[in-house]
Amino acid sequence: MKLTVIGYWGAYPAKGSATSCYLLEKDGFSCLLDCGSGALSRLQLFKDVMDIDAVVLSHYHNDHIADIGVLQYSWLVQNYINNTEEILPIYGHVEDKHGFENLTHNFTEGIPYDPEGTLNVGPFSFTFMKTEHPASCYAMRITDGEKTIVYTADSSYTKDFIPFSEAADLLITDCNFYEGQDGNKPGHMTSKEGAEIASKAGVKQLVLSHHPHFGNRADLLIQAKKYFDGTTYLAEEGLIWGN
Ligand SMILES: [Zn+2]
Ligand SMILES: [Zn+2]
Repeated sequence: MKLTVIGYWGAYPAKGSATSCYLLEKDGFSCLLDCGSGALSRLQLFKDVMDIDAVVLSHYHNDHIADIGVLQYSWLVQNYINNTEEILPIYGHVEDKHGFENLTHNFTEGIPYDPEGTLNVGPFSFTFMKTEHPASCYAMRITDGEKTIVYTADSSYTKDFIPFSEAADLLITDCNFYEGQDGNKPGHMTSKEGAEIASKAGVKQLVLSHHPHFGNRADLLIQAKKYFDGTTYLAEEGLIWGN
């Protein structure tokens, strides 16, 4: 299983980049985790839009779903040009009725996931955990039967992440704040909090993502490394994990 970071900003994309979006691949199956602002443009450096097989969404904040609309237009245009009728499944929770309904379009189908159950998408199995965030949001634990990735999506710190992330091969954390700041109100974590989850859960590698637009982001990595001694990366476009 291979993961490529497409977008890693919180809130809005800095110029020439994107907010939350990750490309997950195995055996020719390609799945997007979230589809934030700028994601469709940046994705095409790595993947043709019609080669996406599924999308799984954590929640309906714009920095995670902003490009769903243009992804739907891309499938409309490409199906028309190619004289095809391919349908893209987009999985989301149904706690935001309006958000969920917007996932269905001419050539996309919104499909609800049960956060209490297991979602099988191609070669991947997803389980979910509700996060601490102003909008209903679900973290994802994803396995292909060999390796495991945990994506916290958006959340302030909760100890529930420790069992949820246990022994994962890769943990991708919300890292919207620096050590010493308080992310509780907006529902995000600091570099220190993400690293402590990684350490306590015994994960192998950590990617700090969902970056802030203030401060020196290199400090996020320096801070996290004080609390987690596994391999740690600052998310950037094109960062690849696995194979
Ligand atoms: Zn976000
Ligand atoms: Zn959010």
